[in-house]
Amino acid sequence: MKTKQRIILSILLVNLLLAAFAFGQSRREINFPDILDYKTLKCDLHMHTVFSDGMVWPTVRVDEAWREGLDVISITDHIEYQPHKDDIPTNHNRPYHIAISRAKEKNILLIKGTEITRETPPGHFNAIFLQDVNSLDTEELFDVMKAAAKQDAFIFWNHPGWKPEHKGWFDTHTTLYENKWMHGIEVVNGDSYYPEAHQWCLEKNLTMMANSDVHQPLTLLETSPDKHRPMTLVFARERSIDAIKEALVEGRTTVWFEKQLIGRKKYLDAIFKESVKIGKPYNKYRETIWVEIKNNSDIDIDMERTGSLGPGQLTLAANATTILRTGTGAEAEEVPAQIELSYTARNFLVAPDKGLPVTLTIQLK
Ligand SMILES: [Zn+2]
Ligand SMILES: [Zn+2]
Repeated sequence: MKTKQRIILSILLVNLLLAAFAFGQSRREINFPDILDYKTLKCDLHMHTVFSDGMVWPTVRVDEAWREGLDVISITDHIEYQPHKDDIPTNHNRPYHIAISRAKEKNILLIKGTEITRETPPGHFNAIFLQDVNSLDTEELFDVMKAAAKQDAFIFWNHPGWKPEHKGWFDTHTTLYENKWMHGIEVVNGDSYYPEAHQWCLEKNLTMMANSDVHQPLTLLETSPDKHRPMTLVFARERSIDAIKEALVEGRTTVWFEKQLIGRKKYLDAIFKESVKIGKPYNKYRETIWVEIKNNSDIDIDMERTGSLGPGQLTLAANATTILRTGTGAEAEEVPAQIELSYTARNFLVAPDKGLPVTLTIQLK
């Protein structure tokens, strides 16, 4: 082969390789605003790999998270349940070590974690921000918790309604709670929402979490308002592991589950205010006005009127502009400077079955 032909061939080969590498190299960002001077980080802190009962290699979890627009994950394989142990040796630190360089390459923050697995009650718990998972491989639950606490772990109760016959808050949970060995609860795990857990988080000041607990490969190619994995939105001072931990300890989270946001009123209120932008009326006929309302978030906001002005039902579609037509409630010659429309955002849950009260303020002058 002549030198020139060889060069052309190698250029072609390099281009082919680059094309293969570029394929699928785009990620769709998840849109929720930063609030109250915090960064809103999208986190899934519970998932499995072949190192316990999952069906994927640890690096795949990083690739999936990047593709779907997440910022943070924790791979939390079971310590006690290892159905693949004949093929994959038991070393509870390996999933993290295998995945960490890929996470660095893709700018995904990877937190070292594990799932502590007991019969119900008390059930399953995740301990995250660990240095060494192997030291948690002990018989007695309270010894495991002590070992996790020694590493200053953040510990949360997983899928608390998993076995309906053993559902509830038991004495062991009180012991864990009182010893500060339980800092949060999964209000959502996979496709289940647990209203009792939501209530416990409010009453006992525990951090609300939502995680996928995925075992199979994720086939989702991108996140959309209609189709996304459940995730915990963490309001952190910066995009770093330490800041995430501080935010989790302080309970600064909200949960995105199906078509709902679930969280404390303060954070839901801030997300609503930062996401919804109301224009000035652009048309007027007698006492009726038309305004545009933009919703810059990934959730369709489902609103019901509680006051006297505005349509009875109003949906602010995700990442879109909605036209609102409303009466001002005043005669044309005595138009006020502004009007306030009172609604409940029904899918922003501040408590089980309780939506967030919101006000749409429209400037008329
Ligand atoms: Zn579990
Ligand atoms: Zn799990």
